[in-house]
Amino acid sequence: MSRFTLRIATVSGIPIYLHWSFWLLIAWVVLSGLFSEHASIDFILWRLLLMGGLVVSVILHELGHAFAAKAFGIPTRDITMYPFGGVASVARIPDKPLQELIVALAGPLVNILLIGVLSIATWLLGQPVEWSAETFMYHGRGMPPLHVWLLSLSFMNGILALFNLLPAFPMDGGRVLRALLATKLPYVKATQIAAIVGQAFAVLFILVGIYGNPFLILIGFFVFVAAAQERQHAEERTAMKGLTVADALLKEVPVLTVNQTLGDAIRLLLDSQARSFLIVDPWGAPAGSLSREQIIAALHQGHSRETSLTQVMDTDLLIVPPTMPLHEAFQYLNERHKPFLVVMDKGQLMGIIDAENIAEYLLIQQAERRVG
Ligand SMILES: [Zn+2]
Repeated sequence: MSRFTLRIATVSGIPIYLHWSFWLLIAWVVLSGLFSEHASIDFILWRLLLMGGLVVSVILHELGHAFAAKAFGIPTRDITMYPFGGVASVARIPDKPLQELIVALAGPLVNILLIGVLSIATWLLGQPVEWSAETFMYHGRGMPPLHVWLLSLSFMNGILALFNLLPAFPMDGGRVLRALLATKLPYVKATQIAAIVGQAFAVLFILVGIYGNPFLILIGFFVFVAAAQERQHAEERTAMKGLTVADALLKEVPVLTVNQTLGDAIRLLLDSQARSFLIVDPWGAPAGSLSREQIIAALHQGHSRETSLTQVMDTDLLIVPPTMPLHEAFQYLNERHKPFLVVMDKGQLMGIIDAENIAEYLLIQQAERRVG
């Protein structure tokens, strides 16, 4: 993460970050305030206050998702605020439709609760709870009173709830759509339909955004790409259904020992098809791994061919049992950016498993199914 990405809070163990690009949004709010016809310090402060309230509302929305996921035993790694909205990195999407429905609805529900809280606060200040265009479009002539801010914020929370509930998969409303479809259709079919609807909305966002809303264009691109990714994940998962790590195991492991050198690794890299190696100790137990990229990086760092492998290997091995569901292993591999997983059964090395081997195995399975 960039050093301009700022950790602003930690709530129940979940770090909340402002992505570096968020500073562009703040700059945009200030600059467009300066160059507007209402330009004044008060006007810019007012806009920043509105933005601050909106950011807190979006964070609370994301925490709504995070807490709902937690209720189903799913942790959230972090919440990051981008100029186009917040993203809660929930470790996985629940595959039970009802759970996905609840997690998806929990975000907009927070915004609806906030409308209630802000309205009650306005009422407690002795002000009428009514939304008018003048309230929201307040420009300058000194700072507006507190209740104008409260009303504007509750109005924005209404927009947030409605916008997120559009069936633009994988936005919240799209997840609701997928969950509802998945109660009647196979998971992968439900995802394919939701992804097509989501991408149609994405195109619509971009087209509408061209008429003066750059954030809508950003959201459109984000939704378009994310819908395709979700669809691919669902398809991969379905293809791997019922399979375990043992099925796609690579038993002929390219092995080096801790006594060997970087030169030995380079020779083996050039002489064989292997792109990454398992490094074992003198007793044959896994000690580390070394990928082609790590070999190149080690040379760039000035290591010579005589360097011992123990100095350059990655000792953080991911060890899994052969009984692990294949889709979980695949996801684990992708999340941790490792060349392979080490498969061990009761302390015994069984082999390794990498993304290419999984892909090959699935291709062969598909081809056989088509023939058979
Ligand atoms: Zn949401």
